[in-house]
Amino acid sequence: MSEGIAKKEEKPRKFQAIRGTRDLLPPETALWNRVEQTAHEVFATFGFGETRTPIFEQADLFARAVGGETDIVSKEMYTFVDRLEKLPDPPTLGDYGAFIEQAEKLMATEELPAVPGNRLAIERMKRIWDQGNVLGTAGESPIEKVDSAVLEELYKMVVLKDSMELGQSISLRPEATASICRAYIEHGMQQLSQPVKLYYMGPMFRRERPQKGRYRQFYQIGAEVLGGSDAPAIDAEVIEMVMTFFDRLELQGVQLDINSIGDRNCRPKYVELLRAELLKVKDKLGPDSQRRIETNPLRVLDSKLESEQGIIATLPRIADHLCEECAAHYAAVKHQLEMRGVIYRENWRLVRGLDYYMRTTFEITAQGLGSQNAVCGGGRYDGLVELLGGPPTKGIGFAIGEDRLILSLQESTSSLSASGKAPAQQGRDVYIAWMGERAHATAIRAAKDLRKAGFSVELPPVEQKFGKALGQADKLGAKYALILGDNEVSEGLWTLKTLADGSQQKLTEPDLLTFLKREKAKADPSLRSG
Ligand code: AMP
Repeated sequence: MSEGIAKKEEKPRKFQAIRGTRDLLPPETALWNRVEQTAHEVFATFGFGETRTPIFEQADLFARAVGGETDIVSKEMYTFVDRLEKLPDPPTLGDYGAFIEQAEKLMATEELPAVPGNRLAIERMKRIWDQGNVLGTAGESPIEKVDSAVLEELYKMVVLKDSMELGQSISLRPEATASICRAYIEHGMQQLSQPVKLYYMGPMFRRERPQKGRYRQFYQIGAEVLGGSDAPAIDAEVIEMVMTFFDRLELQGVQLDINSIGDRNCRPKYVELLRAELLKVKDKLGPDSQRRIETNPLRVLDSKLESEQGIIATLPRIADHLCEECAAHYAAVKHQLEMRGVIYRENWRLVRGLDYYMRTTFEITAQGLGSQNAVCGGGRYDGLVELLGGPPTKGIGFAIGEDRLILSLQESTSSLSASGKAPAQQGRDVYIAWMGERAHATAIRAAKDLRKAGFSVELPPVEQKFGKALGQADKLGAKYALILGDNEVSEGLWTLKTLADGSQQKLTEPDLLTFLKREKAKADPSLRSG
């Protein structure tokens, strides 16, 4: 330790979670678990299997799948250069020839990423080095002829200062569809019986401006159907599955919006028409929308700007411009939803900005979320797997924002009671108040047996006076205190105190278990049949 640091009595630094990230703590995590458990159960009944893909992938995967021009990829991705597994040895005695040769070899075996930046860097070094070699006359070492200071500088610049991509460029996933499609291709899942139905849950990362319902690390639960046909029943069943999931969770104020955005045949014509109409009213639009007339006119329909709403209402609607196939597909999806009793609202302004999205798009909103009220977005993306180098493959999927889903559930009181909302440390069934060494041994055994039977048990690590123990049991919100002292152990009759009414009874060990099980079944009717 340097003297300076040793002398100063610095306060230990306080650490905080990084902006846009947060800790999920009890009791809230109980609700997260319940939501995730419900997803596992519901999705399994629809024949979906869980997939867990890495949370980081090659940056290019997302650039390709999500689109290099999207905000997500251009501004919001957490991208970093991985460390090189094998670094070319630094040039010894100024021998850059060996360094260059080694770097080229590593690039050939992909141990050094063969990206344009690296090729250029090596090319540059090589040019200067070769020049030096040519300059060198017989008997003179080239090193002396090349301006070694220049080479040194170059070496520092390209290798040490990160201008060379030493490792591959990696991104934390901003969404999971790209990863699932990558996995589908990588594992040859097109050989399996089609379609392949997969779901996932886990953290996603986007460097967005944090606000309520918008985080930089957030969680999604999503599903994808890949391969097979684009039968409208597939679209409808995927939507039915999300709605069933939300229904099971008793999510309040659920609103499903659907739309069809056509395909490669009809959408470009509609986009041109839209662009032409938007140009006529350009002056009345805000700067964002004005820009989007050129870059992505469909996104203008997304606009929430109050002043633009009147204009948007007069724009041509895609439903009137779908080709015959897309119109038939859309009609069939709606019919299929009706057959399944799924209530929807058509929303012609619901679009996806990315080229490979086609036909069905949908969004689900829920109550209690303010402006960030979308809990789920989804759509058909028949071109994506092919775009990532796989065979032509149909695809449809959705992603639920789990953070927002939880926020909305917390807003509605009915779900709070259903989730067993409680102080952070509640949830104990039995608090064991023991005194004396013999009682401790019995208490340990009792705790083991009770836990095995599925009860939550608090076993204090050190002896406490009974009065204090009962106070502690109360604080933890325990339902019962099991009192074990010398008398109880010698008699084989244990004292059970019901904390709600203070009543006490003496029970043998087997009777205690029977009693607790019966009481638990009374409190939770779902346990009675099982
Ligand atoms: P997307 O992948 O952008 O289609 O988003 C799907 C869903 O994920 C949205 O409807 C939101 O519920 C949720 N979501 C997207 N971005 C965030 C974020 N930054 N924070 C929290 N939830 C998000």
